[in-house]
Amino acid sequence: MDYEVVIGLEIHSELKTKSKIFCGCKNEFGGEPNTKCCPICLGMPGVLPKLNKKALEYAIKAGIAMNCKISRFSKMDRKNFFYPDMPKAYQISQYDLPICYDGYVDIEVNGEKKRIGIERIHLEEDAGKLMHDPFGQGSLIDHNRCGVPLIEIVTCPDVRSAEEARILFETIKTILEYTEVSDCQMQEGSLRADVNLSVRPRGQKEFGVRTEMKNLNSLRAVQRAAEAEAKRQIAVIEKGGQVIQETRRWDDNKGESFSMRGKEEAMDYRYFPEPDLVPIVVDDAWLNEIKASIPELPLSRKERYVNELGIPPYDAGLITMNKKLADIFEEAYKVCGNPKLASNWIMTDILRRINEQGDSVLDSLNGAKFGQILLFLEKGEITQASAKQALDTFLETGEEPESIINRLGLKVQRDENLVLAAVKDVIEKNPQAIADFKAGKTKAFGFLMGQTMAALKGKGDPAQVKKILEEQLNAAINE
Ligand SMILES: [Zn+2]
Repeated sequence: MDYEVVIGLEIHSELKTKSKIFCGCKNEFGGEPNTKCCPICLGMPGVLPKLNKKALEYAIKAGIAMNCKISRFSKMDRKNFFYPDMPKAYQISQYDLPICYDGYVDIEVNGEKKRIGIERIHLEEDAGKLMHDPFGQGSLIDHNRCGVPLIEIVTCPDVRSAEEARILFETIKTILEYTEVSDCQMQEGSLRADVNLSVRPRGQKEFGVRTEMKNLNSLRAVQRAAEAEAKRQIAVIEKGGQVIQETRRWDDNKGESFSMRGKEEAMDYRYFPEPDLVPIVVDDAWLNEIKASIPELPLSRKERYVNELGIPPYDAGLITMNKKLADIFEEAYKVCGNPKLASNWIMTDILRRINEQGDSVLDSLNGAKFGQILLFLEKGEITQASAKQALDTFLETGEEPESIINRLGLKVQRDENLVLAAVKDVIEKNPQAIADFKAGKTKAFGFLMGQTMAALKGKGDPAQVKKILEEQLNAAINE
């Protein structure tokens, strides 16, 4: 039988505010355990939380970028459960009035646009971290993450394959980066996804029984976990069994998932409005201010690059996936005046540097300065090789491109007498190559061309060198 996979994602994203959501503690990853907390985020009796306005602003910003409606009146609620990493024994979250609801994001699957509904985005606090003590028998608790602001993005079950799930996760990650509400450091756990998945015979209207896999922290893990879980559920049904509603843990190393807890243990959180916080009212002025701060988003940037600048869709997609890279491209092509030249350099030279040195190379790459180097190249004043050398030096020293090019003498050598002298010298020193050329071996021309360029220290203009070399060779063999 042919099956259809149905997937929805729940994505948790930490917000990059300076301080935590309800207290003044620093919101920073890492550090000595239990050094970034206070009585409020530790949930001591008698303390009062106060909502961080920036966290609320970031949640609204993410919602607008994902085409959500924004609740003008909402509130925080208590979600009650006991777990050792949550010292209050409740999490302050949002229940029936999430700050954002009813939105969508467009993803691109094999060149086709597909719209995925966003059911809601709500604001909540993160929990601490449990670490298993390798020496003793117990677990240790680090509370530094308690009270870090989070948004939970709940998508509609509109995803129909593991690949779409990965693309959706990546698209939302990029939107969060463009709007600068989260640093999306997946290896630090600041962005993680739960995958809800069921299968049904193709054509059937009702959803199948779904399972949930929690805390997937890479794009690859989301796709692999969804692929494996769809296969597992189909195998259960084919054998005449029934899928059980449960939470499963995905083991990315083993490439399989394991049952964690079944439906019978599903918790009743006894939500009620948080009595220590006032309701949230968002007025027009503030909402408009936040709306105005939303930058052009990745998909519309991509379309602009393709339609207006003539960049190939694949290249435009890759460049816009990374906001820093897209910003660098934008500045560089404006300075050098040639978008294709800038995108070609990014797709080859800059991506190679990222592969070798990581994303940090983008921090020292100023788009306008990069554009200046490309402008010298565009005008034919330096060669491709010299442009690479100038870029190397710029990334090392930060020196002005023009001063690098002058100091290293990188400008193309166009003095006809100098080029002619170099050509004559090469012809004189390579009688064998001249004989080969005379005998019709075209390879010999390439060799002589290389020798002349080397004699000019790579700064000859290839077209000019070729022309003079041809003239001199013809003269030499006709002698
Ligand atoms: Zn605190």
